[in-house]
Amino acid sequence: MSGGVGTSQRPLRVAIVGAGPSGFYAADALLRSDKVTVDMFDRLPVPFGLVRYGVAPDHAKIKNVTKVYEKIAEKGNFSFLGNVAVGRDISIAELRRFYDAVLFAYGAETDRTLGIPGEDLSGSHTATEFVAWYNGHPDYRERHFNLSQKAAVVIGQGNVAVDVCRILCKTVDELKHTDIAQHALEALAKSRIEEVHMIGRRGPAQAAFTPVEIREFGELADCDPVVNPKDLEINEASRLELDDPKNARARKNFETIQQFAALGQSKKRKKFFIHFCKSPVALGGRGSVEEVILEKNQLAGEAGHQKARGTGEKETLLCGLFFRSVGYRGIPMEGVPFDEEGGTIPNKEGRVMDKGQVLPGIYAAGWIKRGPSGVIGTNKPDSEETVKNILEDAGELTPCAQPDTQALIGLLKGKNIKVVRFADWKRIDAEEIRRGQANGKPREKIISVTEMLSFC
Ligand code: NAP
Repeated sequence: MSGGVGTSQRPLRVAIVGAGPSGFYAADALLRSDKVTVDMFDRLPVPFGLVRYGVAPDHAKIKNVTKVYEKIAEKGNFSFLGNVAVGRDISIAELRRFYDAVLFAYGAETDRTLGIPGEDLSGSHTATEFVAWYNGHPDYRERHFNLSQKAAVVIGQGNVAVDVCRILCKTVDELKHTDIAQHALEALAKSRIEEVHMIGRRGPAQAAFTPVEIREFGELADCDPVVNPKDLEINEASRLELDDPKNARARKNFETIQQFAALGQSKKRKKFFIHFCKSPVALGGRGSVEEVILEKNQLAGEAGHQKARGTGEKETLLCGLFFRSVGYRGIPMEGVPFDEEGGTIPNKEGRVMDKGQVLPGIYAAGWIKRGPSGVIGTNKPDSEETVKNILEDAGELTPCAQPDTQALIGLLKGKNIKVVRFADWKRIDAEEIRRGQANGKPREKIISVTEMLSFC
């Protein structure tokens, strides 16, 4: 670093927008220098983004990564500014008055649609809504999912689809000691769902889920996986894919699917059906979803690049609850370029681009940079790439006019925004853990923002 900013007298001031994994990994990489200060914003009063509101409640180990983020937050040059919606409570132009660089790491908040008739019927939902609901996200606590139905269909075979299916397939006893939101646990306790159908448009060699996640369905208390042995008759290109030494994940998935297909009759109440090579073409129902029309696909193309092609052969699957789980999608931020097709901020290795030109001082990391792919750890190298470029550019950046976080907090106060600091979050955290202990849960999340703010 050189020039006016990035010195002991005048550290480089970076605003990170989004307190999820990519934001924290970026903060960690930036704070390896003592000539940088980081202020991290989140629209919610609580940090950790998708680790708190995306990771399934029964996957507690994955959430342990927040301990790493807590350590980063304890660093001297780091501040958390929660309950501040950048783009709404403060514009990008205002933010730039206080920071030399702004890094967007706000993830992918919405989802992709299927674009089929009937998708808007009541009873048809996005997986992201359901995930946010059972994880106690304040924006989703009022959502209603009709669990009095016999059959639920989930479109897609990524890990999000798997999470949704597993939560629907588990018993309340399997969930009650997790940090699942109490409203969701109570609704699931009354669930009458007996059949969960997970539909993949391609075959068992192409499924996007990971081996550990799919194996779990062989170990559920009151649900058995069901696979049609005919689905194991794969084409030559798929065989080549499975034989590829670099494709261990697909091989392991295939082995698990084979084991599921070989299972005999079971006495368990629920069934988890895994369908392959089928695409939804329409949803039907009077007012709410009653059925989904599926078209059988065949695979075409070379090994590693096979695509699903409709054969014209259709089947009807009765279902009263329908989820699409075909990928998250980023949303635009007022005043920042956006690639509508990809649902990302256009960038070159994290430097934000506008019409082919680098926008100085504006960066992106995580899902809003590369799209919704990879596991939590994937964000570490991704954020480090962006940070490397921020530090490389630092000497050339125009220093901000008002390098003063207190002045920014004053501005927000003037707009009636209560800024939540990390110490405030620790009070919310302590209260959630206390409430959880009473119910034998690791925590009972507070789901109202107003209530969260009462602890700050
Ligand atoms: P994903 O892994 O990209 O899976 C998307 C799924 O949707 C694929 O099966 C895809 O099929 C299918 N799909 C896409 N468009 C479709 C269409 N028009 N019709 C039918 N199917 C369609 O996305 P995700 O499940 O949302 O997960 C996002 C990321 O988070 C992934 O990297 C995932 O591994 C990660 N994640 C990890 C965990 C965990 O580690 N436990 C948990 C949750 C999420 P094709 O393959 O044919 O495109």
